[in-house]
Amino acid sequence: MHSVLITGSNRGLGLEWAEQMAEAGWRVYATCRDPEHADSLNMLQSAFAKNLTVHRLDVTHQDEISALAEALRGHPIDRVINNAGVYFEKYLDEPLGQINYQHWEETFRVNTLGAVRLSEAFVEHVAASRLKQIVAISSHMGSIAEIAVEGDYAYRSSKAALNAAMKGLAHEVQARGLSVFMLHPGWVQTRMGGPGAPLTTMDSVKRMRQVLEGVQAKDSGRFFRYDGSVIPW
Ligand code: NDP
Repeated sequence: MHSVLITGSNRGLGLEWAEQMAEAGWRVYATCRDPEHADSLNMLQSAFAKNLTVHRLDVTHQDEISALAEALRGHPIDRVINNAGVYFEKYLDEPLGQINYQHWEETFRVNTLGAVRLSEAFVEHVAASRLKQIVAISSHMGSIAEIAVEGDYAYRSSKAALNAAMKGLAHEVQARGLSVFMLHPGWVQTRMGGPGAPLTTMDSVKRMRQVLEGVQAKDSGRFFRYDGSVIPW
């Protein structure tokens, strides 16, 4: 049985990842910040009591990451999905003159450092697995080549930095047979994406799963759109 660890799996894309992987028969370690209030995820856990467990994890808290890595020591994890993310500028207009640097720092703590922290802590678990995949849910907004409009300084730079860090990680873990992939999920109907987005979480995750099923070790370090096309840096 393959296994997967997912961050931010109480809602949005993370919840959908948890559901689809559990349905596919994977052993799912579904993590979120506040399990006591993760109603949808807890309902999913009841439906998949045999292969899904819920774990507390804030990706900015090193102590929680270390504790979970220790608790799962000896358990191979085929795929780590760094999904948790924040996008403050989506709700709060922060143009030049009103840039909120505390939000920017928090955006980096979650979107960039959080994903690297978690990946670092779980390298041994992934190395002990069969698939050996580390995945970062990035965004095409992290593509410098695709920046065509103003603003969103924090979110864009956090995802560009995430891509740069993950590309470096891909090189570092290559010798041990691990692969690292960055994925853009498309514009998706979640709290972050909003109701006007064209893609459902179901479609987006289905397409991203297909991408991950089609990749090979030589593709490690690449940045893919949900349809499998490569996004320029
Ligand atoms: P949502 O806002 O719906 O969900 C974000 C998730 O991240 C929530 O589970 C949230 O948990 C979690 N989270 C936030 N901060 C932390 C933290 N410090 N530790 C752990 N979990 C945290 O967003 P989406 O589902 O849309 O986004 C998922 C990923 O996809 C993100 O990385 C996002 O950048 C990316 N993405 C999304 C797009 C879209 O159109 N939806 C487009 C491009 C990329 P909590 O409920 O506790 O806040």
